[in-house]
Amino acid sequence: GEQIIVKDFADKLRKNPNEIIMKLIQMGIMAAINQEIDFEAANKIALEYEIEIHKKEEERVEEVDVYIAKDEAKDLRSRPPVVTVMGHVDHGKTSLLDAIRKTKVTEREAGGITQHIGASEVEIDKKKIVFLDTPGHEAFTAMRARGAKVTDIAILVVAADDGVMPQTIEAINHAKAAKVPVIVAINKIDKPGANPDRVKQELADHGMIIEEYGGEVIAVPVSALKGENIDNLLEMILLVAEMEELKANPNREAIGVVIEAKLDKGRGPVATVLIQNGTLRVGDSVVVGNTSGRVRAMINDKSRNVSVAKPSTAIEITGLSEVPDAGDQLLAVDDDRTARDIVANRINRIKEAQLKASQKISLDALYQQM
Ligand code: GDP
Ligand code: MG
Repeated sequence: GEQIIVKDFADKLRKNPNEIIMKLIQMGIMAAINQEIDFEAANKIALEYEIEIHKKEEERVEEVDVYIAKDEAKDLRSRPPVVTVMGHVDHGKTSLLDAIRKTKVTEREAGGITQHIGASEVEIDKKKIVFLDTPGHEAFTAMRARGAKVTDIAILVVAADDGVMPQTIEAINHAKAAKVPVIVAINKIDKPGANPDRVKQELADHGMIIEEYGGEVIAVPVSALKGENIDNLLEMILLVAEMEELKANPNREAIGVVIEAKLDKGRGPVATVLIQNGTLRVGDSVVVGNTSGRVRAMINDKSRNVSVAKPSTAIEITGLSEVPDAGDQLLAVDDDRTARDIVANRINRIKEAQLKASQKISLDALYQQM
């Protein structure tokens, strides 16, 4: 079955077997060095080291192509929060993002025409917040399907004149499943029919208890249209971010996730990448999903060329040989050759799996005929 001996597993992770055994004990699994553990247990431990493992075809546990070293606490620095906006259609997600961008553009870029890269940064009291433009729902489904966690905080927009609707509930469930803290923006408070109290009651009915009802969920009444109370919302985001103690190690090779990607006529493949850990630099060799390349240029959300992207920065990169998929992981590696090798291996693995699958199908078909 899908078992691996503790010692072999430790070897593959390049860890001390005793350390693995200790971790197993913490998980309530008593296993000696020569005993077998199942894939599930192995995977849990690998995740703690931020190492990806896969079942082999014959269901043996195998490490994947890139080791992602775990950071030591002393190397971690606080990083800005990455926020998505979710909510029912027409409740004002787009308007809220626009309002946020308008109130908090820095003087430098005021008046400048910026090209959308799928994410934007705002700064208040010298603190940054990164907003993803992708509707939260899509981001959550696409990214979570790949096991990527992109957002630190979700803003749930609920129109005060409409209340909790099906997509509101869906958003609540997404955030719950991803264990992402939610801040509710009760929007459209300028409207005559606005009833914020009803919204709070309806949210409570769905397990989202607002602070004033004795719960822990922060709710901020806003008007995206009139730009009312947006500052307050931003401050609440920073407050929640502080409680989350978001950290990353800026002094390591970059790890990121593709937010969106496309083929540009002039520039070739372009991908908006959120740097989640480490620092990405122009000239770095990268693996992105099943493609690789060397970062030729990076453009930030203000359409400016930058040479360095630190944790919690969204940048558009060029220099990849193909267009990656949203949700693909970016990893900076030592050199182009390493990057190409890793991708070649990945593609081989996919081809092998496809071949196996097609052989199985034809065999099944054969059996059916007999
Ligand atoms: P989305 O579908 O969630 O992105 O919603 P939109 O941002 O496109 O907003 C839907 C409609 O609601 C638009 O006509 C907006 O102008 C309007 N709207 C958004 N926010 C407000 C608000 O605070 N007050 C009022 N009165 N209308 C708003
Ligand atoms: Mg919209």
